[in-house]
Amino acid sequence: MIKLKGIAAAGGVGIGKALVLIKDEISVPKRRISHDEISREIYRLEVVLIDTRKEISNLQRKISKDVGFDHARIFESHFLALEDRVLIEDVIFQIKNKKVNVEYAFSQSINKYVDALLKVNDEYLRERVVDIEDISRRVLRKMLKEKAVSLSDLKEKVIIVSHDLAPSQTASLPKEMILGVVSDIGGRTSHTAIIARSLRIPAVVGVEVATKNIKSGDKVIVDGSKGLIIIRPTEKTLKEYRGKLAAYNKEIRAIHIPKALKACTKDGREVRISANLELPEELPLVKEFGAEGVGLYRTEYIFLGRKDLPLEDEQYKAYLKVVRGASPNQVIFRTIDIGGDKFLSQPEVPKEMSPFLGWRAIRFCLERTDIFKAQLRAILRASSVGNVRVMFPMISGVEELRQAKNLIEECKRELKKEGKTFNKNIPIGIMIEVPSAALTADLLAKECDFFSIGTNDLIQYSLAVDRANEKVAYLYEPGHPGVLRLIKNVIDSAHAAKIKVGMCGEMSGEPIFSFLLLGMGLDSFSMTSPQVPRIKELINNIKFEDAVKAVTGALKLSTAKEVENFLKEELKKVLKDKFYRILMI
Ligand code: PEP
Ligand code: MG
Repeated sequence: MIKLKGIAAAGGVGIGKALVLIKDEISVPKRRISHDEISREIYRLEVVLIDTRKEISNLQRKISKDVGFDHARIFESHFLALEDRVLIEDVIFQIKNKKVNVEYAFSQSINKYVDALLKVNDEYLRERVVDIEDISRRVLRKMLKEKAVSLSDLKEKVIIVSHDLAPSQTASLPKEMILGVVSDIGGRTSHTAIIARSLRIPAVVGVEVATKNIKSGDKVIVDGSKGLIIIRPTEKTLKEYRGKLAAYNKEIRAIHIPKALKACTKDGREVRISANLELPEELPLVKEFGAEGVGLYRTEYIFLGRKDLPLEDEQYKAYLKVVRGASPNQVIFRTIDIGGDKFLSQPEVPKEMSPFLGWRAIRFCLERTDIFKAQLRAILRASSVGNVRVMFPMISGVEELRQAKNLIEECKRELKKEGKTFNKNIPIGIMIEVPSAALTADLLAKECDFFSIGTNDLIQYSLAVDRANEKVAYLYEPGHPGVLRLIKNVIDSAHAAKIKVGMCGEMSGEPIFSFLLLGMGLDSFSMTSPQVPRIKELINNIKFEDAVKAVTGALKLSTAKEVENFLKEELKKVLKDKFYRILMI
């Protein structure tokens, strides 16, 4: 039995067999062959190429039937490589003249092919490199008789263990087959952790050595609340955890979901508690957990995990579904936030040294106005059927806000000319997640309709701590006096300008901080749906005046630890017997 500590990313207990996802790299052995083996190696090449062509044709037919001919055309460059005589002749040349095995010859030839494509001054051809690499992996796997693991046809429930699970991979996990998620890297507010929380999959990230210690098939316990994993547990530990799992499930079912949508303190302060959404499948959870609409819809997930860009109409249909699903409550669409730890296949963004500080979110959108405008038009059109708001991520100052608003006006003029309907007074808000925006909140508040504080980023930028880096996770402290002062300034500036301010960062769903934020005057809280009942229960059981007092006390303290301990003590006093129930789940 081995115990490893990581970062508690999504609560709950998962017990099951591990499936270790190895990086999609294939090691190709080099073997000298004798003269007699040459014809056999060339024959293997032909068989595998024919087989792969068949496989791609079948895949193409299936995709054409399921999602349309246009999507099936993405395989054209796969065929291009499989039928390229120059490439095939080169492989045969190496087998004959260098007397090497077919897989090695093929990998050498494909490398040359890719290098040549990368040098061509033609963007379309350069972009085909991803497809060529994909086909080369397929061919090599066949030659090496390796099987790619497809998560969509899992036969039994598993615990996924990986070095780094991308947000798009996590989003596409078949939820009903996944008992837990473990990764070597990542932090509590990395997007993979956020998705696991939304999907209610217990997760421990930032374990550093998980993939070194776990083999596929090992029995593993994931304690997502403590950030602990236990590999090959003893019978005694297993029994103990089976008990914890049953108790956890009972606790979850026991949480009282108030019928009233509004959260209201005992002395009458009402606040809105809404849900953060990444995937349309999460939509039923919004109502199930009693959230009042969608406070953050992370639209970029529609763009992830696919090879092409969703067109305006496809986006419009997806947004309509969300608006109708949440109706009559409000949906806040956050325009695409790619970059950081979320990347599109198309357009390919050059690798950057510091992606969280780079070409991300609004910066990307203000340059790729073609992509941005298609999205704005789709959101505007969806605003004609319900309560829709739009907000921009990563605004660092007034200039960016003005540019984005000008583009909205441009889209409105176009739609009007085309006779399409939209809400011409759609409220426009911004996320406050860059320290410069938090410090100039008074200036920004004059030019928009609402704020939503994105603490996941605001904390990483103000404390200079990469939110996805487990090495510095201990410094990622929402209670840091520097962070609290920034948040207070944002709330006060918004109210001075008579606009509402909410928070959609993970901090708003953590009980001790919800208590503090309530006291600071925050108007709305948005969090993953499963967190909603607990925070509602908290707010319904306290007095606003106690929260205001707690703010005065907390702002006098010097460290995050002091702040956290103080808030816990204050909450214990005001919640009494309900404290453990609300805080310890
Ligand atoms: C945030 O930064 O707090 C936020 C809600 O946005 P995201 O987590 O998508 O960066
Ligand atoms: Mg953010």
